[in-house]
Amino acid sequence: MGLFNDMLQKVSGSAKITCKKCGHEDTEYNLVKNFYICPNCGFYYRLGARDRIRLTVDKKSFHELCTGLTSKNFLEFPGYQEKLDKARSTTKEEEAVVCGTAEIDGNACAVFVMDSKFMMASMGSVVGEKITRLFEYATENELPVIGFTASGGARMQEGIISLMQMAKVSGAVKNHSNAGLLYVTVLTDPTTGGVTASFAMQGDVILAEPRALVGFAGRRVVEQTTKSQLPDNFQSAEFLLEHGFVDAIVQRSELRDTLSELLTIHKRSV
Ligand SMILES: [Zn+2]
Repeated sequence: MGLFNDMLQKVSGSAKITCKKCGHEDTEYNLVKNFYICPNCGFYYRLGARDRIRLTVDKKSFHELCTGLTSKNFLEFPGYQEKLDKARSTTKEEEAVVCGTAEIDGNACAVFVMDSKFMMASMGSVVGEKITRLFEYATENELPVIGFTASGGARMQEGIISLMQMAKVSGAVKNHSNAGLLYVTVLTDPTTGGVTASFAMQGDVILAEPRALVGFAGRRVVEQTTKSQLPDNFQSAEFLLEHGFVDAIVQRSELRDTLSELLTIHKRSV
């Protein structure tokens, strides 16, 4: 299948990966062909930003934007610089979000993809700035935005500055919306904290991957604060769909077609 060619080239045919959920062992090659979903139990492996882009957009259509921004340890938070250095070297990314323009089935759009492999995609000043710039670019160029969210929340090592990103990105989302442009979010595992409390939930259409954890505060905190017993599926994509926070849960294998359809329906007549 053409969609997977780029990804298959970089994986070794014999390297084995063990499913965290059921212990099933499979080659990475087979997993790629199955959209990184365990063929035995249906567990969704978390995708890095580049793999997500490869699985979603038309081949060679992705043009990266908002690059060259790197986080600084301006609060001199102990250990932050080391964590940044490690995340950069393991992911080969500058930060926890990748932004750019692309086409999905020939439909032009702006795309941002948060990468949980980079400090659990926590939102610091650079993540917020990159997404803000992407929305500004999309507004100026009349492009819809597709956003894949994942996050452990605001980046505590940047204190109040990380919380301020919620308002900054929301302002840019609002300007984009005022221009009559479409914004679709895809909530992936896990989307939590300040990201859920701002731009993840501001999409005109909100999609989610099956069984993705989506919430604000952690389960234990909510239980202690509300002094109540929460259902087992609390903060799952399925629970959110039942309660009207999510418009649809889409299988990974159908995500590209669903996004293509949404973009086509909302295409602006020229
Ligand atoms: Zn499994």
